[in-house]
Amino acid sequence: MTSSLDDHTPTATAAPAVQARHLVKRYGDLEVLRDVSLEVPEGSVTSIIGASGSGKSTLLRCLNLLERPDQGDLAIADEAIRFDRNPQGDVVGLDRRQLQRLRAKVSMVFQQFNLWPHFSVLGNVIEPPMRVQGLSRRRATEVAEHYLARVGMADKRDAYPAFLSGGQQQRVAIARALAMEPRLLLFDEPTSALDPERVNEVLGVIRGLADEGRTMVLVTHEMAFAREVSDQVVFLDRGVIGVAGTPEEVFDDPRCQRFAAPAA
Ligand code: ADP
Ligand code: MG
Repeated sequence: MTSSLDDHTPTATAAPAVQARHLVKRYGDLEVLRDVSLEVPEGSVTSIIGASGSGKSTLLRCLNLLERPDQGDLAIADEAIRFDRNPQGDVVGLDRRQLQRLRAKVSMVFQQFNLWPHFSVLGNVIEPPMRVQGLSRRRATEVAEHYLARVGMADKRDAYPAFLSGGQQQRVAIARALAMEPRLLLFDEPTSALDPERVNEVLGVIRGLADEGRTMVLVTHEMAFAREVSDQVVFLDRGVIGVAGTPEEVFDDPRCQRFAAPAA
């Protein structure tokens, strides 16, 4: 299954939502991603699992262009970028407008919610579409109300983040990500900072998005959940893809069994 990531066989469907080929990311001498290739079909869910420090967050941040890969090719929907270095060692292939177009297709939800504390719930959700997409306040408010209802937070629109539980804050963060109408949603351990009794309300929202056919890449330690919602699971092992395939293929593979026990 791992080799199929490099397979060029055409499929009946449209271009994949994400096509990453031979991504390399270094921090100084530390090679955090070593030749990572990943394809995410439109409308599918991919979970990334692996030990702490294996490069999961770095991979997500590269997909979002929060980090720039040192080498490799990345295409999100129909926007493709090649990363490389010139003989002077500078990263080349970075057209700012293209970066902006690519970033606009991707929204990310973080472990620590990252809501703006001085904005209300509604303010948090309308701000990015107003600032980045130039939506009017009225239109952004309509969009925000739609997605706040979608995550069950419509009645908290005037509350401030400090007065919300972690689970509620994360649901607002998901509404904020959705309000950008992204082609791709990234989640980096979205339930890891939550009290145990708050985990399910967030997983329930993510499950609903999966059922809607949203394209998502999820880093998670919730193995039972990953098994349930994922079309594809990728086991990242010290910066390389150790195993990739269906949940059954990956969770039953001895190379990642110690991560794959549902109780882990
Ligand atoms: P994971 O999310 O799987 O725990 P990360 O992608 O956060 O792993 O980190 C992978 C490796 O890269 C770790 O060794 C981490 O210390 C290192 N790393 C991550 N971000 C940076 C950074 N900004 N500068 C230097 N090293 C980093
Ligand atoms: Mg991480």
